[in-house]
Amino acid sequence: MRARPRVAGVTDRQPERGESESEGLEGSLSRASPTLDVELLSGFDFNCLPNCGLCCFTSPRLSPGDEARLLARAPEAKVVSRAGERCIAARPQGGACQFLRETKCLVHDARPAPCREFPVSVHVGTRLQATVVLTCPGVPIHPLTRWSARAPAGQVLNFRTELESVRARVAKDTSRKLAESLRRRRRILRSLDAEGRWVDEDRVREQLGRSALAPSEEQYDVEDPPSGNDELELLPMYFDGRVGPVALALGLGGWEARELSADGGFRALGLAAPPVRRPTMDEEATGLLEGYLHYVLARDSFLAAVHLELSRGREGNVTDAAREDLRTVGSLVLARGSVRAKLRGASGALLGKEDVERGIRATDLDWLDRPTWGSRL
Ligand code: SF4
Ligand code: SF4
Repeated sequence: MRARPRVAGVTDRQPERGESESEGLEGSLSRASPTLDVELLSGFDFNCLPNCGLCCFTSPRLSPGDEARLLARAPEAKVVSRAGERCIAARPQGGACQFLRETKCLVHDARPAPCREFPVSVHVGTRLQATVVLTCPGVPIHPLTRWSARAPAGQVLNFRTELESVRARVAKDTSRKLAESLRRRRRILRSLDAEGRWVDEDRVREQLGRSALAPSEEQYDVEDPPSGNDELELLPMYFDGRVGPVALALGLGGWEARELSADGGFRALGLAAPPVRRPTMDEEATGLLEGYLHYVLARDSFLAAVHLELSRGREGNVTDAAREDLRTVGSLVLARGSVRAKLRGASGALLGKEDVERGIRATDLDWLDRPTWGSRL
């Protein structure tokens, strides 16, 4: 296992099993200054592509400070409350953020934190863990191949401005969020432990990290994307060089690729059936998929989502459920990579490294968005 730094000031104490790590941590958090674990950013590069506006097909959250800054810069901004959070309102017909013009942000100097920080995403759990959103095409994906060897991918040399914004917010208001997350984790830990289903995060990673995680032929299981009538934010999206991002939606007889327009409409690009049998991969493609699945396993948000589902009635223990979910992620990457290959005229039956990369791009954000017992910064 790689060393896993935790919240500053609370790393040395070894809590008793059953007492739960969170009880010891919670008391310490009010005294601790939370630090940010950036290990999952190491080795990755980032250059925003000027012709891509993928991450602007959303309604970004606004902190009070961000809202005030935005309204001072653009008094005409439409802002709404959604699920207890303030957000930039979507356009009347959906589509991109109201401030996106072609692929430029009209309020760049006053854009809110999620925009300043993308493609860095921070999960607030037992610690603050930053990860890269691999749906972003500005992040080369090759460091993932080194994750299969479970060696650190290198130093964090990039994401300077994104991390400046993250660190400024960490310094302000994360102790309360961390304490709330830890209370929720403690409740889940107790109930799963009482049923003999709890396995600590490090133990799960140790058990699964030793093995291949990609689905075998028997384990391959395709899940369809949501129907085209669902909210845009639920559809898997990716950038493939077109003016608008492409979304995959369940259509009649296959998956429909739709080029999205900033104003809310779309142009159908074609239909392709996902493979019924698991596509085969060459050696490089296999290495990339394995590396990606080990990267997913290293994300705190992945296991915290598994815990939450187990606490809500899903069967099994933490390790088995995590293994099953990694196979599902692997199947999705293969199916989406294959569909993208078919849409370009290939058979989609034999996938190379670029096909697996395309599958990862079309999958990663969905899994980062799953609810967890923690929260996002
Ligand atoms: S998705 Fe990535 S490359 Fe595209 S606009 Fe956003 S940050 Fe830039
Ligand atoms: S505020 Fe700017 S950067 Fe943020 S989603 Fe809107 S257009 Fe994109």
